[in-house]
Formats: sequence, C-alpha cells, structure tokens
Amino acid sequence: MGAGIEKSRLEAEELLAHTLEVNRLNLYLNPDRPLTKAELNRYRPLIKKRKSGQPLQYITGKTSFMGISLKIDDRALVPRPETEEMTEEILTRFRHRSGLKVLDLGTGSGAIAIALAKFLVAPRVTAVDKSDSALKLAEENVSENGVSGAVEFRQSDWFSAVDDQYNIIVSNPPYVASGEIEELSPEVREHEPLEALDGGEDGMREIRRILEEVPGYLTEDGAFFLEISYNQGERVKDLVSNTDFTRVKLIKDTGEKDRILFGQRRVKDVKNGSSC
Ligand code: GLN
Repeated sequence: MGAGIEKSRLEAEELLAHTLEVNRLNLYLNPDRPLTKAELNRYRPLIKKRKSGQPLQYITGKTSFMGISLKIDDRALVPRPETEEMTEEILTRFRHRSGLKVLDLGTGSGAIAIALAKFLVAPRVTAVDKSDSALKLAEENVSENGVSGAVEFRQSDWFSAVDDQYNIIVSNPPYVASGEIEELSPEVREHEPLEALDGGEDGMREIRRILEEVPGYLTEDGAFFLEISYNQGERVKDLVSNTDFTRVKLIKDTGEKDRILFGQRRVKDVKNGSSC
C-alpha cells in the first residue's frame, strides 16, 4: 500500500482535489460521492505519475511557500521548509526597514524573491539565475503574485551580470556533495534539476564562488544569508573568516542542524535601528 510514499493518503487526496479542481478539504464535504468515469480517467494517470516517483508538486504544478501560491515544475527545485526558515530569518531582522535593496542569487522558482517582495516594506528585489528556463518560471510567479513592480530579473551566473550593491543578499545555492546525490530520495534525485542540487565534490564549489565575491556587492552594513548543508557549518564559517565580514553566525533549522550562514559587513549604530 502507498507505493512506499510516506504521506500516501494525503497525497492521493491532493491529487484527487487537483483532478476535481477543489480544495483538499472540500473532498470531505461529500466523501461518498463516486467518481464519474471522466474524473477517474483524469485521476488515474496522476496516481501513476506519483507512483513512478514524480514529486507531487510537479504533477499538480503548484506549491506553497510561506503561504504564497507558486507554479512549480522541473525547471526549478520545489521550495523546501528550510528555505522558508531562512526567509523568516530575514524578515525577523528586516521587516521594519523600508526601501531595502535585495539580491536573490539562484532564484529558481522565485520563491525567496517573491516572499521578500511581499513581506518587506517597499523593497527593490533583484533575482538572478543562470538558468533561462528557471527565470521564465520565476517571472510567471512574480506576475501571478502581483509583485512585478518590486522584482527585477537578470540572467547571471552568480555575480557575473550583477554590478550594484545590496542591503541584503540571499542564496540557496546547490550544496549537495556529488557523492551524496545518490542518497537523496528518488523524487529529488531523478526529477529535480541536478544543477540546482549538485555542489561538486565537497558540496561547496558554488558556496566558495559566492563567498569570494559577496562582500564586494554588499552595502556597508549589508547582510548575507546563505542556505547550507547540515554538515557544512564549520567549514563555511572558516571560509568566511577570511573575508571582511565583521559578524558571522550559524543559524540552526528546526531540526537543530546548521542551516543558515548569516554574515554582516558592519554592525550599524544601534540608535539608527540596528538590523540585528
Ligand atoms: N536541501 C535540499 C535537498 O536536500 C538541497 C537544496 C540545495 O542544494 N540547495 O534536497
């Protein structure tokens, strides 16, 4: 039962709701209604796709990130709860500052950029990705969420097409060590874009590239948030100690694993409303 899928009942309900174009909870309003033949014909192929390992979100074409509805497909990673935690962290520190310039490196579906555009006060967000197809998806999501005026897109291999300075730079780069890709679940390994996951031999190839350049693109008191793998905390901290960050902190996820590197170039005068 369940084809080895952990939340099989919930997921089957999600797929049924998607077939019937209703909310999952609406299924319970009329739980005994049999499906029509036409409905069954639409439902069965979805179940088959899920059994073959496709992520639920790619089949329904939608996901939710911090309460925001996003289109999703294999042009980008399905946004993870850890990335929501990183975005929350940014909001906790910067929710009340107005007009901040934000750079999202490797935006994928646009999840972080859109959440920050919605929840910060009048920010100007630049979202870059080296993948043209991911950028198209992100643009669709930005326009569906009504934040086109706050988010500008650019195709860029990290900083290659970036020339400004930002108050906040955030990134969820590929950080899985090549040798650990095999250990990921088949949903992830076989269906999500490898270039968004594979961080080279030690998982830190892209992190190193970002860290080398990031200080030059931050404003004087700029803050940097980087999602990392559970086992990279100390190594990333060591790397950062060679750059001109004044403040560096590792922040744990709800699973108590090092997950976010926070760096700040200079702590601002407290009277001015320090950001931390
Ligand atoms: N946390 C993701 C996973 O384990 C990896 C995300 C990433 O490499 N940025 O699937």
